[in-house]
Amino acid sequence: MLKVLSCLATEHNPVFTLLAALVCVSGVFLTFRLLARGRRAEAAQSILWLTLAGIIGGATAWSTHFVAMLGYQTTLLIGYNAVLTVASLALVVVTTSIGFYIAAYCRVSWRAEAGGAVIGAGIALMHYVGLHALEVQGDFVWEWGYVIASFAFAILFSALALNQATRPTTYMFRYSGKLAFVLGIVALHFTGMTALTIVPHALVMPSTTVLSPSLLAGGVIAVMLILGLVAMITYMIDLQNARHAGERYRHLALHDPLTGVENRAGLEEHIETLMTAYSGDTARIAVVAIDLNRFKEINDVHGHAAGDQVLRVFAARASEALRDGEFLSRFGGDEFVAVKHPVYSRRDAAAFAARLLAVAQRGIEWKDTTLSVSGSAGYALYPEDARSPAGLIEYADIAMYHAKSHGEVNAVAYDPSLAAANRERSVIAMDLSGAVERGEFELYYQPQNDVATREVLGYEALIRWHHPTLGMVSPAVFIPVAEETGQITHIGAWALLDACREAASWEKPLTVAVNVAAAQLASEEFVRLVREILLETGLEPHRLELEMTESGIIGDVPHALHMVRQLKKLGVRIAMDDFGTGYSSLATLQNFPFDKIKIDREFIGNLGSNQHSAAIIKAAVILGASLDKTVVAEGVESEEHMTFLEEVGCNTVQGYLFGKPQPVSAILRPQKPAEADPGLQLKSFAEALPAEQLSAAS
Ligand code: C2E
Ligand code: CA
Ligand code: CA
Repeated sequence: MLKVLSCLATEHNPVFTLLAALVCVSGVFLTFRLLARGRRAEAAQSILWLTLAGIIGGATAWSTHFVAMLGYQTTLLIGYNAVLTVASLALVVVTTSIGFYIAAYCRVSWRAEAGGAVIGAGIALMHYVGLHALEVQGDFVWEWGYVIASFAFAILFSALALNQATRPTTYMFRYSGKLAFVLGIVALHFTGMTALTIVPHALVMPSTTVLSPSLLAGGVIAVMLILGLVAMITYMIDLQNARHAGERYRHLALHDPLTGVENRAGLEEHIETLMTAYSGDTARIAVVAIDLNRFKEINDVHGHAAGDQVLRVFAARASEALRDGEFLSRFGGDEFVAVKHPVYSRRDAAAFAARLLAVAQRGIEWKDTTLSVSGSAGYALYPEDARSPAGLIEYADIAMYHAKSHGEVNAVAYDPSLAAANRERSVIAMDLSGAVERGEFELYYQPQNDVATREVLGYEALIRWHHPTLGMVSPAVFIPVAEETGQITHIGAWALLDACREAASWEKPLTVAVNVAAAQLASEEFVRLVREILLETGLEPHRLELEMTESGIIGDVPHALHMVRQLKKLGVRIAMDDFGTGYSSLATLQNFPFDKIKIDREFIGNLGSNQHSAAIIKAAVILGASLDKTVVAEGVESEEHMTFLEEVGCNTVQGYLFGKPQPVSAILRPQKPAEADPGLQLKSFAEALPAEQLSAAS
């Protein structure tokens, strides 16, 4: 050992020793990077990376050896044999590469150590071949003990190095592999040099191709620099590619492919980031949920391509309308969630939501029509409403649902009472499924009377739900839920069938009015359903009146017009319900082949208190007369109402004054109490009663 150390101190020039150390350490670092990269890569690429690691690793050992040799202070040196010098480089590159393949691919559990041993042996061989390249004025005398020791060092340290580099280690040992490798090279070199003594003798003729030490120095450094540079550049290019791929993946993972705006994951990340960045801030974060209305109908009527177009156009326009600190994401389906920071008051949040709602209001061109959508919005604020992204989104969602189910045109702010309503809503939606099959619905009938004679002209069928635990649930509560969930199509079909069957059994050919929801009208199937029901029940078409609201047709006017024309061809009559509450009543009226206008009960209810209501009723009656349509006033509760309506010339009325909606048994009996036809009664109850009860009665 002492001899080895003295060899280091006295026989080597410290400048070259330092330079060799520098080459060695930087080369080893690069080699290990490449090795790690090769082990991570796919099969074909892996071989290339491991080869590159072998080239750099071998060249590192080789140049370390030669740079150190240049500092080997002996006056006997003439130069280096070129062939052996190059051969030693080739040898070490090949063995190092093979060692790396073994470490990566060999099927034994000690492959890392085996690979390392091969590398160590290769480096040691390189050392001695390199020494034989020395042309000196003297003879080589070997001390074999040191030679063997140098092999042992190289093999053991290299095996240890690969063991550390390829097996999981702790943080403290993260450099242990590289250190072992460096130590292996250093130990080999100086032990190997100690093994050698040159005994001088008289002039020896150098072999033909001799490189001078300075030429070799330049060569070694140039080779190492070029190799190192090439490997480094390759590694950097790869790193950048990986980063690009990572960014692209991140983009895909956080964005919605259809609209290009961020998706749910992107949204949650964005809110999270804002919350951590501005946790101590006085400004708040607003989360706005906005859901498109009539989207489902557009999808049903015009196909998914139209639906996609609506989503894309809305997303693009809304993104354009965003300002600094605002963010838009598609939450799923036709729901978008936007975020704004900083927000200083609820008014700021409401204004932001209003801006998005205005965007949703704009018509969207599709083929040769304009699709009209609108939005419902709700918002929640951080920190007062919720303190987590999921909580904020959920509350904004609840507020949005409230806006939707109440037909709110403005954005609704979250407040805790809405959460309770929301839970109730989901319970209703759940209980509604299967309610038709379980026979929980019943139709009530409310008379429509002639103003002059006060005679009953017909009945409006109004649905009632006998909920097993809640009792009677108002349609005002469950119809909006059924419309949202799509269950209305099924429920509406049941109501239509039941009303027609009932009316067909009446003695007098009175009309029956049935309410039709927007979603029912959207489906092409609806016309066929009406035709089949008329055929099956035998009800004369002119006795059936379908009530539809303006909101049911405004979504897609050309389609609704098409549907209404086909329905009219069947001979049924069409009434426009809730007249006066929509937006474009006059234009719609002129375009649509309605038979009847029903003035909303709100206006009659306001008659005493609101001058405006009286004016609207008068205008509606005049309009109806000029367009040759029957006008019905809803919600007539008093004789004062009747007097006013008679004066303005309204033909028909419906309201509590003449009767509340009642079960069919109640409306049929008082109507003709004395001569009630038992056959008729039996017929109308036939479906409601179990067979054995029927036979007991007769
Ligand atoms: P609507 O079509 O406007 O029905 C008239 C509503 O006004 C009924 O409420 C009726 O009970 C009420 N009403 C009648 N006369 C008076 C009155 O003099 N004063 C007052 N204050 N109210 C009066 P109802 O039965 O609760 O129905 C609510 C809504 O539910 C209906 O409004 C209709 O839009 C919907 N609906 C009911 N049945 C069906 C159905 O089978 N299908 C569909 N799609 N919707 C239905
Ligand atoms: Ca109605
Ligand atoms: Ca109405």
